[in-house]
Amino acid sequence: MNNISIAVHGGAGTIPHADMTPAKEKQYRDGLELAVRRGYAVLASGGTALDAVQAAVIALEDCQHFNAGKGAVFTADGTHELDASVMCGRTRGAGAVAGVRNVKNPIVLARRIKDNSPHVLLSGRGAFEFAYQQKLELEDDAYFFDQFRYDQWQQTKGTDVYLLDHSDGKKFGTVGAVARDAHGDLAAATSTGGMTNKKFGRIGDSPIIGSGTYANNSTCAISCTGHGEPFLRAVVAHDVHCLMDYKGLSLAEAVRIVVHEKLPPMDGDGGLIAVDHDGNLVLDFNCSGMYRGHALADGVVHSAIFK
Ligand code: ASP
Repeated sequence: MNNISIAVHGGAGTIPHADMTPAKEKQYRDGLELAVRRGYAVLASGGTALDAVQAAVIALEDCQHFNAGKGAVFTADGTHELDASVMCGRTRGAGAVAGVRNVKNPIVLARRIKDNSPHVLLSGRGAFEFAYQQKLELEDDAYFFDQFRYDQWQQTKGTDVYLLDHSDGKKFGTVGAVARDAHGDLAAATSTGGMTNKKFGRIGDSPIIGSGTYANNSTCAISCTGHGEPFLRAVVAHDVHCLMDYKGLSLAEAVRIVVHEKLPPMDGDGGLIAVDHDGNLVLDFNCSGMYRGHALADGVVHSAIFK
């Protein structure tokens, strides 16, 4: 089937084996596999990589076990501020949203910003207004509520501590997808609630084109997950592209250098998923686990959490 392929992630970090019961593992893997199937269905019917990554990320945003859309972490004010981005490797058109509230699927908003506005990144109140104008599905705060996320927030509420979803050793969840379609086009998408107890409008790497998300048909498409501040400073996704573009490295080698050599000295815990122009997938991380799934042209769906 023409080298179509898709990969998804649901966050990376220190995942203690002890906390992972078979029932919980199944919940996560079911969520990941559903997302892969949704994206693969788009690709198998001749759809675009852009539509495939959007379909996969919507499935993950709608699954409350992941920190994106429904089930997103709480801010210091007890709200949910959502970040997302999407990029097309053929046109290098991109759309992103930061710190938006009450939009059911931030990835759909990112896509609309790409398709229906002259801008790349909208934030906060203005992004909400654009979503409203575009008649996107909106939800009240209760929709995003998840008891586990609420309890996480209670542990930090009123303090200056903010918790990377990865750092509590329990639960993870920024989501993303990359795909190559039958026409040879690549795309990447990422969506997150960011960090528990975040304040001052903190934004991580996920909605930043070049850091959390990047796609370019000449090299690869990338979606990252990890500690947003080092990932921003390392411009992770674009760096993988540059190593391929300027040095002619393979995708696997470029990812290895960024994830295992460049990020660790910067305290950049995390990982990424990537696809190259031939449809080869790389899912790599420098911590104990990354929620991930993929399917190659044969359509067989795989998922994994630990190394
Ligand atoms: N990179 C995201 C952020 O810092 C978090 C994550 O990947 O889970 O907002």
